[in-house]
Formats: sequence, structure tokens, C-alpha cells
Amino acid sequence: MSVESAARDAQISEIRGSVKALCARYGEQYWLELDATRGYPTQFVRELTEAGFLTALIPEAYGGAGLGVLEAAVIMEEISRSGAHAGACHAQMYVMGSILRHGSETQKRLYLPKIAAGELRLQSFGVTEPTTGTDTTNLKTTATRVGDNYIINGQKVWISRVEHSDLMLLLARTTSRDQVARKTEGLSAFIVDLRDAVGHGLDVRPINAMINHHACELFFTDLKVPAENLLGEEGRGFRVILDGMNAERILIASECVGDGRYFTDKSVAYANERIVFGRPIGQNQGVQFPIARCHAEIEAAALMVDKAARLFDAGLDCGAEANMAKMLASEASWRAGDVAMQTHGGFAFAREYHIERKFRETRLYQIAPISTNLILSFVAEHVLGLPRSF
Ligand SMILES: Cc1cc2nc3c(=O)[nH]c(=O)nc-3n(C[C@H](O)[C@H](O)[C@H](O)COP(=O)(O)OP(=O)(O)OC[C@H]3O[C@@H](n4cnc5c(N)ncnc54)[C@H](O)[C@@H]3O)c2cc1C
Repeated sequence: MSVESAARDAQISEIRGSVKALCARYGEQYWLELDATRGYPTQFVRELTEAGFLTALIPEAYGGAGLGVLEAAVIMEEISRSGAHAGACHAQMYVMGSILRHGSETQKRLYLPKIAAGELRLQSFGVTEPTTGTDTTNLKTTATRVGDNYIINGQKVWISRVEHSDLMLLLARTTSRDQVARKTEGLSAFIVDLRDAVGHGLDVRPINAMINHHACELFFTDLKVPAENLLGEEGRGFRVILDGMNAERILIASECVGDGRYFTDKSVAYANERIVFGRPIGQNQGVQFPIARCHAEIEAAALMVDKAARLFDAGLDCGAEANMAKMLASEASWRAGDVAMQTHGGFAFAREYHIERKFRETRLYQIAPISTNLILSFVAEHVLGLPRSF
């Protein structure tokens, strides 16, 4: 091991310890109450931001911690492992990558230091639409240039944390699909200032959902967005969004590793302490083996997350690894959740045991931000060279 990598590993272990200590001050009861009341963890997110954890990926030149995706992944993993719902804040980590890579120097200076200081929240990412779903390039929301503004019309669905964010990264079509050579052209990305937009062309309606993810429907009616809020070149917004996706996949995968380790910790503890037929249930191999299998699956997924993060930080292509990490980790965490439910028997259904909440929460990651089928399609067609299916 080189001196450099030993120093990095030492720093990562220090970060792990600090995030763990911060999360321990909140505890599972905090998350249980938020889930029951559909509340937002404002204080938790503030504290994470002030400690520099949520701004890990913002370079030091813009006031951030200037860390890599490997460190960011450990932060998300520890948040999830503590029993928290990291989905309340994960977008702040990776959405800003689009500004960093595609923003003008003026935009970077305007937004990044304020995001790093916690004065501006960039928690919202508006892509999915009700009629087109995963077929992103077919989206129907339009942005039409009129003078110094773009006028936005259309609809989005499942857009998380809009009510708890100041800014949203929005993808809309600026040139109709029949006028571009490739379906990925003609889309543009915008930074929407939600403080100006809501109630002035943007209507936000919360969705009553299975988990407390603060997801909303958005209705745009002649919303004016200043032309200077265009991110990157007009018509090349798909690239802006795509570029942030590998980091997003890696960070979501690390949340799943955290969830998986959380479930295994809980299963082991309960299987050791619950006595039935005069012995701990964990003494039965029918209880032990599923837990052991989940442990092995999560540790294997964690290795893929680690590989993807190191490739990303080295500036190397990591599309295959980031996608595979997300798929493997989300499936492993779901199975670990299912095993934790089984291990806890009837008590798994009691909310005070927290298992059912985490079970609901970790299920999301096989669907969002990208479903397992779409990852398999990417691996089959882009990695293995099988024929395109769409
Ligand atoms: C709680 C929550 C929060 C979310 N937050 C956000 C957010 O902040 N921002 C945002 O933009 N979006 C968000 N989403 C949306 C999410 O990214 C989408 O739900 C997801 O991408 C799937 O799209 P869809 O729901 O339209 O499913 P569809 O595209 O309708 O797909 C339905 C099913 O069919 C499968 N399928 C579709 N086409 C194919 C194919 N060609 N081959 C094989 N299988 C296929 C899919 O894999 C999926 O299982 C969120 C969703 C949820 C539930």
C-alpha cells in the first residue's frame, strides 16, 4: 500500500467515525417520528452541511471539502447504516456535480460557495415525467426562448424534496424531437430558483407515497426562467444530466450497502437475543444461513462500489461498474431487509422496531433513480455488445 493510499484510508476511517457520531445524536426514534408525520429532517441536514459532509464533493476553491466520491460514498453509507433515511439529503451531494462540470465560472461562483455554506439548498432534480417515465429523451416539458427568458410548460412527477430546496436542476426540451438528428439532442438543463418559481408558474403538489421521500408532482404554466440559468449549452442538456449519473449510481449503491449492513446488524442482534424453544433463534441454521448469505452479498456489492468510486476519482470510465454496483447493492439490501423481516417475526411489523420503515425505504432503489431492468439493458448492450432493444 502506498503512503498516499494509507493516508486516504486513514482519512476515510476518520470520516466514517465522525458521521457515525453525528448520526448517533439523532437516533432511530427521530426517523420514526419524521416518517409518521411526513416531516423533513431539517436539523439533521443542517448539521451534516455545517460539518462539511454534504458538501464533500464541492472543490475547496468553491468552499467545499474537495473530497472524492469514495469519501462521499462512505458518508452516505454511514448515514444509512445508522437507521436514517439518506434519501432526504443525497441529491445535495451529486446534483451540484452538474454545475461544477457544466456551469460557467459565473454560475459556479454564484451557487457553489453558497451551497457549501448551507445558504442555498440544491436538493432537487427534475427529470421524470408522468407520460414518458424511463424514456427520458421523449420528455414533453418544453422551454421556449423569449427575449431574456425561457418559458417552461409541462409536467414532472416524483420530484423529491422540492419543498425543501431552494434550487432545482430541470431538464426540458428546447428543440422538438422531429427537428433534431438524435433523440438526445434538443434537451436543455436549467437551474430553477424555486423561491421565485413556486406560485409564479410552478405549482407543487406532494404525492402521498409509500416512503417519506418528499416527492411531488410539478405543473409548469408559462414559468419564466432567466436565460442566464441555462446550464451548459442549449440543446446539450442530456449530457449535463448524464454526466452526474455515475456519481449518483455510486452514492445510491453505497446507501444500499449501508442499509444492508443495518439490516444484518439488526438481524444478528435479534437472532442472538430472542429465545424461542429455550434457545436463541440464531442457533437454528434456518435463521443463521439467510443472514450469512446476505452478509456475503452485501460485502460483494461493497467491493463493486469501492471499485467504481476509485475509478471515478481517478477520472477513468466507470459507467459499467457504477451501474453494476447500484444493481448489486440495491438487490442485496432488499434481500437483507426481507431476511431482517423474517428474523424479527411478528415484531418486524411493529413500527418501533424500525425494520418495516427501512424495508420500505430500501425497496425504492431497485426502481429509482433507475430501475434494475434499465441497468441490465445498459450492461447487456453497452458493456457486452448485445443488440439494442430500444
Ligand atoms: C420515491 C421516488 C422518488 C423519486 N425522485 C425522483 C426525483 O427526485 N427526480 C426525478 O426526476 N425522478 C424521481 N423519481 C422517478 C424515478 O426515477 C422513476 O420512477 C424511475 O426512473 C422509473 O420510471 P417510471 O416510474 O416512469 O417507470 P417506467 O418507465 O414506467 O417503467 C416501469 C417498469 O417497466 C420497466 N421498463 C420500462 N421500459 C423497459 C424496457 N425497455 N425494458 C425493460 N424494462 C422496462 C422498468 O424497469 C420499470 O420496472 C422518483 C421515484 C420515486 C418512486
